[in-house]
Amino acid sequence: MKTISVLIPAYNEEPVLEKLFTRLANLANEVKEYDFEFLFVNDGSKDNTLGIIKDFAEKDSRVSYINLSRNFGKEIGMIAGLDYVQGDATVIIDADLQDPPELIPEMIKLWEEGYDDVYAKRRSREGESWLKKYTSKMYYRTLQKITHIPIQEDTGDFRLLDKRVVEAIRQFRDTQRNAKAIFSWVGFHKKEILYDRDERAAGMTKWSYPKLVNLAIDGITSFTTAPLRISTYVGAGVSILAFLYLLFLVIRTTFFGTDLAGYPSMMAVILFLGGVQLLFLGIIGEYVGRIFNETKQRPLYLIEEYHNGKTPKKTRSKN
Ligand code: UDP
Ligand code: MG
Repeated sequence: MKTISVLIPAYNEEPVLEKLFTRLANLANEVKEYDFEFLFVNDGSKDNTLGIIKDFAEKDSRVSYINLSRNFGKEIGMIAGLDYVQGDATVIIDADLQDPPELIPEMIKLWEEGYDDVYAKRRSREGESWLKKYTSKMYYRTLQKITHIPIQEDTGDFRLLDKRVVEAIRQFRDTQRNAKAIFSWVGFHKKEILYDRDERAAGMTKWSYPKLVNLAIDGITSFTTAPLRISTYVGAGVSILAFLYLLFLVIRTTFFGTDLAGYPSMMAVILFLGGVQLLFLGIIGEYVGRIFNETKQRPLYLIEEYHNGKTPKKTRSKN
């Protein structure tokens, strides 16, 4: 029998876990042709998330869990989970029931038809502000343009991945990660299914605008050096213009002498160039920062406890 792993990153999800597990368990009971593994990743929750997961594990041997040593963020939580899943296919699903588990059988069906990455695309995004929708749309459009990697729009991390895609993703040890860009990068046979994204069942979103902006910058800097190339072009363009202006000034001064006007235009040029230089220094800094972070070669996460439902408790550490 094939095994489907369900990977659930959870951070302070106490209010929804019970509901989520009931729905997952019901589903697993209905889909009898497959074994299920529910792998919870407790991402350093401050509430009783871990306690609840341990309860599940006690009652149900399909439940495994990883307890991370602190909060590492969802991106890292997901890679930790992917390192440990054992199924022939893995479904990544949010704990807050925004991703309906009832979609999983359809995903499995498409997987059996030969697709490696069945991702759920949102038909609607209930409960999200137009600003969030709009910025996210523009961002992914730009990302796609500059990376030349086709990126699935309106798609989150809710998807089914074949074992070989999971194995491919395990090789990505970037510390500043953007899973969506990685899913796109690895390729394989992709298939979308449409769904309506529900509102969070309970609890609070863990995303804030600053966090989203950081994720967006990581998405770009980890996949393309295009911004550096753009600074090269802009730098070259500005230099050429400056040179032409210089020629113009030299000629004008030679033939027509000089008057001491021109303070405003001088200020404008100085301020403009100063701004451009600072901006590009910042861009270079982003990349230097990435080099710094990646060369440290630190483990991506640390595990305090790994419980495998099928075998007796053991602790194991792996980067
Ligand atoms: N999550 C996590 N670590 C974090 C933040 C979030 O594992 O530091 C999990 C969270 O428990 C949920 C999923 O990531 O299962 C999505 O988080 P959330 O619902 O807050 O994001 P949104 O749906 O608002 O994009
Ligand atoms: Mg959510």
